Amino acid sequence: MAKIPFITKQKAQEIIAEYPTPFHIYDEKGIRENARRLKEAFSWNKGFKEYFAVKATPTPAILNILKEEGCGTDCSSYAELLMSQKCGFENPDIMFSSNDTPEEEFAFAAKVGAIINLDDITHIDMLERVCGIPETICCRYNPGGTFSVSTDIMDNPGDAKYGMTKQQMKQAFLRLKELGAKEFGIHSFLASNTVSNEYYPTLARILFNLAAELKEETGVHIGFINLSGGVGVPYTPDKEPNDIMVIGQGVKEAFEEILVPAGMGDVKIFTELGRFMLAPYGHLVTKVIHEKHIHKEYVGVDACAANLMRPAMYGAYHHITVLGKEDLPCDHTYDVTGSLCENNDKFAIDRKLPEIDIGDILVIHDTGAHGFSMGYNYNGRLRSAELLLREDGAVVMIRRPETVEDYFATLDGFWDIK
Ligand SMILES: *Cc1c(COP(=O)(O)O)cnc(C)c1O
Repeated sequence: MAKIPFITKQKAQEIIAEYPTPFHIYDEKGIRENARRLKEAFSWNKGFKEYFAVKATPTPAILNILKEEGCGTDCSSYAELLMSQKCGFENPDIMFSSNDTPEEEFAFAAKVGAIINLDDITHIDMLERVCGIPETICCRYNPGGTFSVSTDIMDNPGDAKYGMTKQQMKQAFLRLKELGAKEFGIHSFLASNTVSNEYYPTLARILFNLAAELKEETGVHIGFINLSGGVGVPYTPDKEPNDIMVIGQGVKEAFEEILVPAGMGDVKIFTELGRFMLAPYGHLVTKVIHEKHIHKEYVGVDACAANLMRPAMYGAYHHITVLGKEDLPCDHTYDVTGSLCENNDKFAIDRKLPEIDIGDILVIHDTGAHGFSMGYNYNGRLRSAELLLREDGAVVMIRRPETVEDYFATLDGFWDIK
């Protein structure tokens, strides 16, 4: 399956006339339709809610759109909590799923009315000291070992820093109950970017069985189960995307098989998806500024890893479309590079593409999540603007590009130190 950009070359040229490259652009229509599909897929569960993982795309205009679609936010830092609050999210629409949490962030989370998801049993005492134990509380579970779907090992929870062991979950629930908690949640995140309709149903089975066991052993009321993030997107064009309807049905079957017979049919299902909500609905748009012919063929673009770190950090594949050359044969092989003085600053390595000319506009696909947000300032490179393609075709800026003054702002008053 070819990946088709949500903007044409002509549209890109119009946009660039007003907003120079590089920029990230998001597709409002795609975001809304996808959010509605997710809601529909879980509509069998009365209390279902998606808490969008803010770290994926921490931009108010995006959060506002998702808010209109009925989503809350999932935060893990002070800044994300504050952004959620500024966007008008309030209890019970903010989840605080942090780890290695500073004391003052628990206090702030309590202040903004976030549901607190404890990553560790030792956090109970800290929370009690800092802001008291709230009536509604969640604990994060880590089963250890490896996590498999059918016979495929998908990830390695035994190596992950997150969550509590089963024994600790039980102790934590008993202690929290003693300290006044009334409504309990269970959370777990066992595999990232899964392209499989089986991930959520498999995870759900594990958590539903745990919930039934914990209810039995501790007598607490389990109000919700948070399947967290991890439903992925196909970055390569050969992969089939997840079918969220099938995923929703798979979780429903597990729910009816395990929770309903345990007298827990009132449990609400929560999700904290980031990538699935946004990745396909964002493009990084960049212009070719150089061609270089040495031991390999290079094309240099005006974006760099500071605008999209995933290829440099994980060797991640991001599909590239050369706008206006969609129908030409991919009979050239290029490394597509940014300008950082780091040889891993490559958006693509040995990529088959149509013949590229200076001035061509490239769309780098699936950058809507963990794209802009992972940006950084190495080599004095600045973060780009973020734009939004409205449903009516209008384009608005939703974050201005960084300026060198922004970059120097933390040096105010320090220039003369010798
Ligand atoms: C990162 C993260 C998410 C979102 O993950 P995606 O892979 O973007 O779906 C959800 N919950 C927690 C706690 C996270 O750390």
